[in-house]
Amino acid sequence: RIAATDGDAEGGIHAFLHVDAEGALAQAEASDARRAAGAPLSPLDGVPVAVKDVLATTGLPTTCGSKMLEGWVPPYDATVVARLKAAGLPILGKTNMDEFAMGSSTEHSAYGPTRNPWDTTRIPGGSGGGSAAAVAAFQAPLALGTDTGGSIRQPGAVTGTVGVKPTYGAVSRYGLVAMANSLDQVGPVTRTVMDSALLQELIGGHDPLDSTSVVEPLPSLVEAAQQGATGDLTGLKVGVITELGGDGYQAGVRARFTEALDKLVAAGAEVVEVSCPSFVHALAAYYLVMPCEASSNLARFDAMRYGIRVMPESNDSPSAEAVMRATRDAGFGDEVKRRIILGTYALSSGYYDAYYGTAQKVRTLIQRDFDAAFESVDVLVSPTAPTTAFKLGEKLDDPLAMYLNDLATIPANLAGVPGMSLPAGLAEEDGLPVGFQILAPQLADDRLYRVGAALEA
Ligand code: GLN
Repeated sequence: RIAATDGDAEGGIHAFLHVDAEGALAQAEASDARRAAGAPLSPLDGVPVAVKDVLATTGLPTTCGSKMLEGWVPPYDATVVARLKAAGLPILGKTNMDEFAMGSSTEHSAYGPTRNPWDTTRIPGGSGGGSAAAVAAFQAPLALGTDTGGSIRQPGAVTGTVGVKPTYGAVSRYGLVAMANSLDQVGPVTRTVMDSALLQELIGGHDPLDSTSVVEPLPSLVEAAQQGATGDLTGLKVGVITELGGDGYQAGVRARFTEALDKLVAAGAEVVEVSCPSFVHALAAYYLVMPCEASSNLARFDAMRYGIRVMPESNDSPSAEAVMRATRDAGFGDEVKRRIILGTYALSSGYYDAYYGTAQKVRTLIQRDFDAAFESVDVLVSPTAPTTAFKLGEKLDDPLAMYLNDLATIPANLAGVPGMSLPAGLAEEDGLPVGFQILAPQLADDRLYRVGAALEA
């Protein structure tokens, strides 16, 4: 299926940057052998999975969608990848993404864009458009993504797949090439809520190699999904976020959202409106915190330790700085450079309090909005993205328009709470998928699965 649909040419999906057919087949055969021998099997044993190219994989390149890491093969596996392997899931390959996970359309990949399987003239969302497109195009039943400001949920919304950003720290970040450490989280991209529950349970749980990983176990996600699948949400209180979903959201997005609310009511839930006044500042705070952390993280690409090295022209014995300059100039794309400059500026002495300090205060206000809301409701809901999939190229020259796609997903990252996007049907005006977002308190990821499974039922 990948060979038939993933071509780089016009009309091809281009979800994968590297396909490991041989390795996946060997892993599948090993799983078959375990089955034949009556050996114990994991719940997803033998089920193939695609992995976003920002997660370290031994024996497979890990490029982060950047020229900077072209051909780089990590010496170790990310914890989540090691857990996939240990549970017998064949790894199909590495999926395309916006360079270093910066973007909302996968057009910032140095290796060319991924196309949306629903309409190949449109974007599959980003930064994890490759993982979402691979699942939507039936190339892979499961995929891993990463979500710093929406990169699992927004691609999920525009490709009609289920995407989950777990509670911050619920899944190990060891071996995830960091973009913004305080926001990044690994999570599942699948076709059903139960598949995501199984995959999150498999990759999640404490990891001594990640100091931010949560020690206490989460409630069972699979049980929550089973409970939700009965279609009964009696006693559950759902809060519709006043600030997300009004003007500026496409008519078809609002229509499918309202329908999903009706479905929740029919399932016995009580739906109320809840205001989170600080959410209107979330995007501004994110685009300070994220570039600050990213500019610091990307300093490690110094032409000495990882990836490519470009020698400056017309210089016989260049200084280390000249090599670094030439390498970073050639290795990083425009969006990455834009954010490094933004972050470096905001962190420079004299500006720290005005920008980074203020953004951190806004972050606290957003956390307080969540805390206050969750005193009166069990989950919060909103549309995942303001529009359905837009055309390739449409927002490429307008960074601000691109950033606005994550309006509804970013608050969860700033507060570390879990979020899920699941398909809510198609917008009548363009026939494209719409995503419904569910948010829950920290460590209450099970609520996402209960409500998600009830909506899916
Ligand atoms: N689109 C957002 C950004 O560009 C989020 C990216 C992500 O979650 N990795 O920063």
